[in-house]
Amino acid sequence: MNLSFELETAKTIARMAASLCQNIQAELVRPAEKDGREPVTIADYASQALIGHALARNFPDDGVLSEERSEEFMLLLTDQQRASVQRFVTDAIGGYVFEEQICAWLDFGKQMQAARTWVVDPIDGTKGFLSLRHYCVAIGLLMGGEPVLGVLASPGFYSDDEDRSDDPGVLTYSQRGGGAYLEPLYGGPPTPIQVSTHADPREAVLLTSYEASHTDMAFFEEVARVLRRGPDAPRRALDSQDKHAMIAAGLGDVYLRLVPDPSFREKVWDHAAGYAIVTEAGGRVSDIFGQPLDWTAGTRLYNNRGVVVTNSHLHDDVLGAIARTGIE
Ligand code: AMP
Ligand code: MG
Repeated sequence: MNLSFELETAKTIARMAASLCQNIQAELVRPAEKDGREPVTIADYASQALIGHALARNFPDDGVLSEERSEEFMLLLTDQQRASVQRFVTDAIGGYVFEEQICAWLDFGKQMQAARTWVVDPIDGTKGFLSLRHYCVAIGLLMGGEPVLGVLASPGFYSDDEDRSDDPGVLTYSQRGGGAYLEPLYGGPPTPIQVSTHADPREAVLLTSYEASHTDMAFFEEVARVLRRGPDAPRRALDSQDKHAMIAAGLGDVYLRLVPDPSFREKVWDHAAGYAIVTEAGGRVSDIFGQPLDWTAGTRLYNNRGVVVTNSHLHDDVLGAIARTGIE
């Protein structure tokens, strides 16, 4: 399976969408911090419209699972906000864009029954985007019921590293059988990446969401305590699929995600691209009971509860620690 054209195209699209998000962030988020969250909707819609435009042009027969919908774009945004989206997409594409085109691109591929399905999160980690922490543009490709290609464009990859706070960010990507790579977001030599070799739970660096409401922290702490046989597990809290990228690059070992609401099922666009990259880098992914993720159920991982991502060497230890918490 050679997906080189798909990968190069997805890399270009993700870079363009990340650049657009950065422009919106620079222009709107900082001045608007005092009066609410409006800019996020603008960035989400502009990024998804740009991605939909490029997918429609290059892969007209493919399906798409993506977070935003034109119906909400028309309902939730003011005239002025929709005009802003139009302006940002017009600037990014380099030709005038009508509102009808924005709507068509937002919905491109949504109801398509296709052999291949792109899975798109136009901004993963919205709260990180608003707070100038981690966020990424995530583009994955599902084939044969599994993500086989992933691209994450992460402008905030080094955002909590003071020495690299002016770094332009990174692009991490993979195609099945072709290895996983990290390169500077706007171009530069790629570096092959591999998960860490840590096999002793006492060496494990644990990753979790920055937003406490996205993970059952009592459960997380209990698993960490059992796994590490003590209370002092090193951990990092960060937004978005940058967590998958960190594990793929050996910068973390275990990502444990369990939303407190037991009926919650994870959205595919929060995992597909990261899954492709981390598994290609040698990592392992399952739900909290060790079941493989079922990508065939639509927009959510309906047949799984929670997600565990590891460097593979620690996976069985983590599943064992989870089982010992007695969670059902
Ligand atoms: P993270 O940045 O890893 O915490 O996850 C970000 C993703 O969590 C977003 O893209 C949303 O799809 C998802 N999300 C947002 N709100 C919630 C919530 N209340 N519970 C669970 N997941 C959420
Ligand atoms: Mg998301």
